[in-house]
Amino acid sequence: MKYSILLTALLAGSCFIAKAQEAKPEDTEIWEPIPKVVTPGKTFRDAPSDAIILFDGKGLDKWEQADDDSPAKWDINGDILTVNKKYGNIKTKQSFTNYQLHIEWRVPASITGTGQARGNSGIFLASLGKGDAGYELQVLDSYNNKTYVNGMAGSLYKQVIPLANPGRKPGEWQTYDVVWTAPTFNEDGSMKTPAKATVFFNGVIVENNFELLGPTQYIGKPHYQKHGPAPIKLQAHGDKSEPLSYRNIWIREL
Ligand code: MG
Repeated sequence: MKYSILLTALLAGSCFIAKAQEAKPEDTEIWEPIPKVVTPGKTFRDAPSDAIILFDGKGLDKWEQADDDSPAKWDINGDILTVNKKYGNIKTKQSFTNYQLHIEWRVPASITGTGQARGNSGIFLASLGKGDAGYELQVLDSYNNKTYVNGMAGSLYKQVIPLANPGRKPGEWQTYDVVWTAPTFNEDGSMKTPAKATVFFNGVIVENNFELLGPTQYIGKPHYQKHGPAPIKLQAHGDKSEPLSYRNIWIREL
């Protein structure tokens, strides 16, 4: 009995050794599909070769007014786009699902107001209709400006507090680099997988694959409603402070 156990153990052991000897480095090498070649920008700010340029100063042909789809009427000065509060939110003509987005924004040096009424705008990572319907990544002066922390710059509005506050002072350009994963839905309309957002604010990660609870809400709790690809929308906030500016907006679909 003892010998048979020993024999079994020896056989199993030798079998294991034989298998290990058979395994080759090549067994775990994958050669296809070959990733497409992308020429990177000179710096992380510059669009890679496969990016869609949404705004670089050469007009607003990729954008329209969010509420009536008429031509976008915000103000262009050189390569800078400034919110025109009179006309309201603008959105991309194109809809997106999963993507990498780069966008730069600047609160005017002469900004006035406090809290949410100081340099408020926003990037709706997926617009779901008129007004502020969608998933808002907050844009706000968050440099020595106290407000509720789930509504400061870098927050997904009223859903999550940013991991840090790397905000620069008014008058200085700031960057957002966003990875957006759209939610998916079951046939009955219920949410299958939530929307996820990773956000770098001035190169500092402030949202780490955060799973959203639904579209962001000014009042009440968020909840999902089935939707497909959606435009990106920029907010013309109704506060009385001076309007923000944007520049160098590009996107890579994933
Ligand atoms: Mg806002």
